[in-house]
Parts: sequence; C-alpha cells; structure tokens
Amino acid sequence: MLFLSETGATRTPDWLMPRNFDNHGCYVISLGALTQWLGEQAEALGVEIFPGFAAAEVLYNKDGSVKGVATGNMGVGKDGEPTDAFQIGMELHAKYTVFAEGARGHLGKQVIERFKLDEGKDAQTFAIGIKELWEIPAHQAKPGLVVHTAGWPLNDDAFGGGFLYHLKDNKVTLGYVIGLDYANPWMSPFEEMQRWKTHPAIKVHIEGGKRLSYGARALNNGTPQALPKTVFPGGALVGCDAGFLNAARIKGSHAAIKSGMLCAEAAFEAVAAGRQSDELTAFETGFKASWLHEELWTYRNFKNWFKKSPFMGKLMTGVEHWLLPKVGVDSPPWTLHNTVKDHTKLRPATEMAQISYPKPDGVITFDRLSSVFVSNTNHAEEQPPHLTLKNATVPVQVNLAKFAGPESRYCPAGVYEFVPDEAKGGGAQRLQINAQNCVHCKTCDIKDPTQNIVWIAPESGGGPNYTEM
Ligand code: SF4
Repeated sequence: MLFLSETGATRTPDWLMPRNFDNHGCYVISLGALTQWLGEQAEALGVEIFPGFAAAEVLYNKDGSVKGVATGNMGVGKDGEPTDAFQIGMELHAKYTVFAEGARGHLGKQVIERFKLDEGKDAQTFAIGIKELWEIPAHQAKPGLVVHTAGWPLNDDAFGGGFLYHLKDNKVTLGYVIGLDYANPWMSPFEEMQRWKTHPAIKVHIEGGKRLSYGARALNNGTPQALPKTVFPGGALVGCDAGFLNAARIKGSHAAIKSGMLCAEAAFEAVAAGRQSDELTAFETGFKASWLHEELWTYRNFKNWFKKSPFMGKLMTGVEHWLLPKVGVDSPPWTLHNTVKDHTKLRPATEMAQISYPKPDGVITFDRLSSVFVSNTNHAEEQPPHLTLKNATVPVQVNLAKFAGPESRYCPAGVYEFVPDEAKGGGAQRLQINAQNCVHCKTCDIKDPTQNIVWIAPESGGGPNYTEM
C-alpha cells in the first residue's frame, strides 16, 4: 500500500496495514477468464446462455410480478424505423428472474424504482474504475504482487486510488478508481488514470511493455446501508446490480458470487416446492445469516468516512480496522449514513479550478480513441443511439452553460463531444453523441447532473469484448 506524492511513494509498514488490505492467500486471476470458465461449467450442467442478445425490457404478469425479460428488437435503423433485417425481440418467461447486470443495471434500475426497493435505505454511491492490461518484459514480472495506491494524482476533493496486479504470463493489470461523488466538473477520471501511470512507482512496472486492453466500469461504493431490498415478486437483484461490493476491501467479485449462490439456493428451494412469481424471502434471510453480511457490516462506514474528508477516511479506517480489532472490538459500535446522490455533488464550473492534463505520449499514456480501440468495442452501425436524452436541450442549456460539459470529461470513451452547431452559427455548440464508442461503463447514467441521460441496451449485445481483463 503506497501513499503517493507527485514524485515520491511511502510504503505503509506491514505492521500498520489495516485488515481490509490483507490479501494473503487470495488468487490473482483474470475476471474475464473466470467468467468464461464459469459459463462453460454452467453450460455443461445444461444451462442455456444467450450471449448475443441483450435483455432490453422487463415483462410483468397481470398481478404486477415480474414475468421475465424481452430481448431487444434487431434490425432497427438509426431513425428508429424497422429495416429489411428487422426481427422482433424474444420474450423469455421465468418462474423467477434474477438480475445480475453489474452496477446501475438498466433493468435493475427500473425494478428498484417500480418496487420502491430503495425506500428507507441510504443513497447508493458509485465510482468509476478504469483499467488496462499490459504485457511486460519477463524480467519485470512478479506474479502475485499486489500494489494499492492512495494520494497523487487526486487532491483532497475526490475519493479514489490505484491498483496494480501482476498476473501470470508476464501480464500486469492496473487501474484507477474515482468516486463519482466528486465536485469539480473539470475532473477527467480517464486523464487522472493516465497521469497516475506516469508516477515513478507505477511506471516502473510497465515500462518497456505493451498495452493490450482497456476497459471502464462504474461500481458501487458499497455500504450495506445502501443495499436495496433485493427481492420482489418474481425476482431478485444480485451482485453489483444490488450493490454487494466491499469498497473497503477493494473487491466485489467474491460478494457477487456469494449473493448469486444465496439467491440460487432460495430459488431452487422455491421451485422445488412448486412456487413461482412470489418473493424469494429466503434469499434475504440467507444473506443476513451469511459471512457476506458480516463482512459488509464490519466495513459499513468505510466510504462514508471518506465522504466527510480524505483525512477522516484514512484516520477512521485505521481506527476501525487496525486499532479496534487490536482491543477486541471486531465491528465498530457506530454507523454512518449517506443521503446524498452522486449526481447532485457537481459544483458550477466557475466555482472550481480548471485542471490541465498532460498530453498522452503514446507509450505509457494514451488518448480515449486509441483506448476504445483496444477495448474491442463493437456496435452494429445502423441502430438508434443507446445513449438517450430525456430532453435534448439540457446538454447545452444546463450541462455546458453551468458545468462546462462534464460528460465530455467523465465519459472514458469519448462518446460525448460538444461541437460547433453549424445550423445555429455564431459560436453556438451542440452535443454530438458517438454512441459506437461506448464501453458500457454506465457513468453517464449515474453522474449526469440532471439525470437527463438514460442508457438503454444496444442491439445484439454489442459493446466491449473484455477477454482477459
Ligand atoms: S457513454 Fe456513458 S456508459 Fe458509455 S462509456 Fe461513456 S460514460 Fe460510459
């Protein structure tokens, strides 16, 4: 664990390391490879997987319970009209439908709203993680080495940090996570990540290597206080679609897997008993009795301390996860709450300092477009944009006028660009949406200050193809 200044790095002594950073005995693997392997195991058990189809719509029974999902229509032109290749989507009906779309799932968001699953819960809070995969010279490889960083390049206005894992086969995966509750609209998470790589303590791991892949994804900042009710008639939310990530431990895959297992056990029991379309309450009770609940509850204050200030975050992480366990207190006796949504935190551009980022060198640092290229993102050309606006005037009249167009900076794929509006002339600008670049991170759906951007599923499951990430 390194605390970075602009040029220096201070290593936290092992004896002072809070327990949340203890990763001894864990495995360093590619999540993309694990998912692929799990898919093969599931298929061998007779599970049918439809990778080329996105679930585009939730279907409901007459009694209001979830009936299943519909896949999107295919062969719709850019103008929204059917082309010669038009094919209507399929309806998939189920006794129980489990939503596992990751943070801010576009269907999960709808069921949370419809069934008021977040009523009485803390406001969910998110971060954006930007990640790259590198191949490095063999003599630099240290398989199993894990480095986490705090400090530079972020200042005290933002929450976040870096991670770097040495994998097998001379590969390194590294990235940066920034809380989406930041206030400065001039901030660019993509550029912060690029400049973080130039720090001597990070650069030394990838120098002489080659970037193989790039990706970005929003994640929950996970407190159990913000977990919505996870069950509703006919279905459930699991993994980051609900928000099971443990931000303090900087990991969520274990929590996603466990929540899926608990939900599967509850669904299996219900189907075996001849039930369907009711609430899988055994999932919620099973979670409360599990090690996962105990783990998340132990770390429940982590992010909320950082919301007070980075200083309080560091201090209280030390108190709660280094000091208290030493005196026999496993779980802190206090609970913090958050009521503020991330999109309300942006301040007007005129109130915040502009940030000037260095130009990419094409060796260690890169621009957005070359990054999207190595994310293997692919969308069918002829389709309506899957980034939709509730009100087409808001980007210029609110986002550009008040916040200097933050979507052109927080989007890690260069999807949003303000360009001259030739129809209007006189220096007017308009928002151009390059939807084909979208890496499906969901940041715009979360951070847009007026919640005017709505992410919908593109055709045919198009999007990034992360094979080894
Ligand atoms: S358009 Fe939205 S979802 Fe797509 S990459 Fe940009 S911020 Fe992420």
